[in-house]
Amino acid sequence: MARYVTRFAPSPTGPLHLGHAFSALTAWARARDAGGTALLRIEDLDRSRARPEWEARIFEDLHWLGLDWPRPVIRQSDRQAAYDAALARLAPLTYPCRCTRADIRAALNAPQEGAQGPDGIIYPGTCRHRRMEDAGPDDTIRLDMARAMAAAGPLTFVETGQAPGPRTVTAEHMIRGVGDVILSRRGMGAAYHLAVVVDDAHQNVTEAVRGADLADATPIHVLLSRLLGLPVPQYHHHRLIRDAAGRRLAKRDDARALSTLRDEGLTPHDIRRLLWPDGPAPL
Ligand code: GLU
Repeated sequence: MARYVTRFAPSPTGPLHLGHAFSALTAWARARDAGGTALLRIEDLDRSRARPEWEARIFEDLHWLGLDWPRPVIRQSDRQAAYDAALARLAPLTYPCRCTRADIRAALNAPQEGAQGPDGIIYPGTCRHRRMEDAGPDDTIRLDMARAMAAAGPLTFVETGQAPGPRTVTAEHMIRGVGDVILSRRGMGAAYHLAVVVDDAHQNVTEAVRGADLADATPIHVLLSRLLGLPVPQYHHHRLIRDAAGRRLAKRDDARALSTLRDEGLTPHDIRRLLWPDGPAPL
């Protein structure tokens, strides 16, 4: 079996909060228990929001928690050539799209009832007839989900986190419940789904540890891995850390930022006690 490799892949668009600490500590603990490695990857695809200052704070916060990682750290902004190669390989299953959000809403008969997938409203397929030969620089590139699922065949993966066990991904779910996902965004290069799959394979990740909020995106990642001939890692989706009112912690909510808690005098041990109130922290 391949040596265990996992990763923590934050976006440098705001402070790390308790939810990130939970994710990182879980990943590092699982790597230690498996005699493997935990990597840090900087997911800075969204150039309009990513900032070097936030990246520096990520390093600082993780070190404060007692974590370290192999260098060099990969940044997604340096990886466009690899994403372009993957996109070229998927070209027979993709098409260019120039719809704006308003176009998409207008194309739906009952916009308020537009079905929601992991990325929001499921794309109605307006541009699906267009060909890649006609793609312009301002086009978004979408995956034709029906053709992609026909090409991929049956999809399975293993969940090791919440409700662990094998999972099957059906064409029915992917076509009706996910739709033609975006692989490359107008003016922004690779989209999250493509980048994460290409990078996890590039870094030989055997298990992706991340919050349960990303569980709905996992079938997309399994599909893209298969279409690109890449190994499918295991996925470990963990519980989400909520604030006292039961709301998910948003990255922009500075109140629960690790650095704020640190400035208030909390220690890394206190953070672990907050995250694992019912027993010892795994790391
Ligand atoms: N970059 C994503 C985030 O900040 C995590 C991606 C992943 O773990 O697959 O939430």
